[in-house]
Amino acid sequence: MMLARLPVILLLAAFAGACSNGNNSAYHDQFFAFGTLVDVTFYGTDPDLAAQASEAIANDFHTLHQEWHAWQPGQLTATNALLAQLEPFRGDPVVLPVIREANRLARLSGDLFNPTIGKLVTLWGFHDNALPVGTLPDRQAIAALVAQAPSAKDVVIRDDMVSNSNPAVQYDLGAFAKGYAIDRIMERLRSLGIENAIVNAGGDLRAIGRHGNRPWRVGIRHPRQKGILASIEIETDASIFTSGDYERHFEIDGTRYHHIIDPRSGYPADTATSVTVIHGNAATADAAATALFVAGPGHWTGVARSMGVELVMLVDTSGVIHMTPGMQQRIRFEPGISPELRISEPLS
Ligand code: ADP
Ligand code: MG
Repeated sequence: MMLARLPVILLLAAFAGACSNGNNSAYHDQFFAFGTLVDVTFYGTDPDLAAQASEAIANDFHTLHQEWHAWQPGQLTATNALLAQLEPFRGDPVVLPVIREANRLARLSGDLFNPTIGKLVTLWGFHDNALPVGTLPDRQAIAALVAQAPSAKDVVIRDDMVSNSNPAVQYDLGAFAKGYAIDRIMERLRSLGIENAIVNAGGDLRAIGRHGNRPWRVGIRHPRQKGILASIEIETDASIFTSGDYERHFEIDGTRYHHIIDPRSGYPADTATSVTVIHGNAATADAAATALFVAGPGHWTGVARSMGVELVMLVDTSGVIHMTPGMQQRIRFEPGISPELRISEPLS
């Protein structure tokens, strides 16, 4: 049995950190947040302002992480406790906007991104900082939760009042909170007067402004080998998020059980190994990477269209790479890597 729980941090802060030609005053900082190393780079910013902004966003990340944490006591766990009572309640102002946006994206994804399956995630043991137990959860317990079909549709939000009709609903924002937080952080940076920045949380990142006079280049981890599969160019103000089956997983008898669950079966989604999405909005990119991972090679295009996502790369379990023409234009495979490609129709 193999255990892998450490966040992957090899992804390319480094590309962004390379010298820029137009503007060589780059400021770098790093801190831990959302269970991963966050790497920030600002370009053309006064060093004092940069240091101050970096400290401000480190604090923001820390606060948001606590508020939205799925199992450590905070505003989200309090909200989950109220949802379980099936009585209407006044939503917590720090949780309400996040849940509203998560629900919207869940609907667009046809519930393949389903932030209400916290009970399933817990059953699999992927909710904990500790190593997953490495044993399979009880089949019947999974079947019972799947039959109860928790969904964002069960949660009705009117103004600040929240009601829930399904006792199986329990929010887990693990597939979305990082993206949503990065969007918030970027607003904060802009309000502080920082215009050119890249915030990279373990390979998931958003860039705003410019990087000298060339685009940002981001490396995508190979899902099955050490190192990089490809690098992708993103233009100004874009986010790039990847969901992979290598992040948190355990193996039993050669079968990999990982942390992205197909809400329809209750088991890890098993037709993709990695999905990368580029989108202007980090929250959408994060939720979509998870949803398209679950959709898999046969169904990702419809879900991407519905979520308004046009730039996608999906690596399936046989190593074939599916992508949109727009993604193909931006991608450069590493030397020696020449996978079989399936290019979709343009999605818009
Ligand atoms: P990563 O955390 O590796 O970036 P994701 O963004 O795909 O990957 O998030 C996976 C996390 O989201 C899981 O650890 C779990 O907490 C939660 N999750 C698992 N399956 C789903 C799903 N189908 N929809 C929404 N959240 C999910
Ligand atoms: Mg995600």
